[in-house]
Amino acid sequence: MSRHDEVAAGLASVRGRIEAACAAAGRDRDEVTLVVVTKYFPASDVRILADLGVTHVGENRHQEAAAKAEETADLPLVRHFIGGLQSNKAAAVASYSQVVESVDRPKLLGPLGTGAARAGRPLDVLLQVSLDPPDREGRAGADPADLPGLARSVEAAGGLRLRGLMAVAPLGEDPAAAFGRLAEVRRDLLDDHPSADWLSAGMSGDLEQAIQAGATHVRVGSAVLGSRPQVQ
Ligand SMILES: *Cc1c(COP(=O)(O)O)cnc(C)c1O
Repeated sequence: MSRHDEVAAGLASVRGRIEAACAAAGRDRDEVTLVVVTKYFPASDVRILADLGVTHVGENRHQEAAAKAEETADLPLVRHFIGGLQSNKAAAVASYSQVVESVDRPKLLGPLGTGAARAGRPLDVLLQVSLDPPDREGRAGADPADLPGLARSVEAAGGLRLRGLMAVAPLGEDPAAAFGRLAEVRRDLLDDHPSADWLSAGMSGDLEQAIQAGATHVRVGSAVLGSRPQVQ
């Protein structure tokens, strides 16, 4: 099987899962955007995805993301940055991404705004919220209690558009339960910021539970592209 056929098969299967999950949740298929996570996979795969009609791609490491964005700059893709962000890289990330999903602290906002201004367009921002217990090691994302302040800071910052929330289900917990908590956090945010209605949740293993809980964006890597190479 050619790589093109392999990716086409993975994509068809994931599109079928999204369609079935929307039907099961009583939602319109158009409410859910597939973001294919291309981390560790080559730019040639990004090209295949675009050829197959994919319009949103995600990356989680700045250097790799920047290189691939340059190699595929001719493609009409919306690029999402979904990884941990260092404040000294945030301006650069904002210059080649249209959406940054992993904003979890105020320190990132100035540099992100600078990068957006350099690119000459506003940047769509999602706040990453942690669904882990507060004492979990390696916890990524803001504490739900810190979201109202962070959301206000995004709205006050120049060049940034607050679009909603992003989260990853904790390991070892039923994703449906975790996404249920996320849906509550989202309701609170929407009370104060009605236009921040994007919810990025769900990956290869739990996209159905995320769509049930209201996800508008699912971030899927391995179910489309296969298992990631272990060594880079
Ligand atoms: C890698 C990654 C994904 C995709 O994971 P798969 O299990 O391969 O679908 C989604 N979200 C984030 C934040 C990731 O880092």
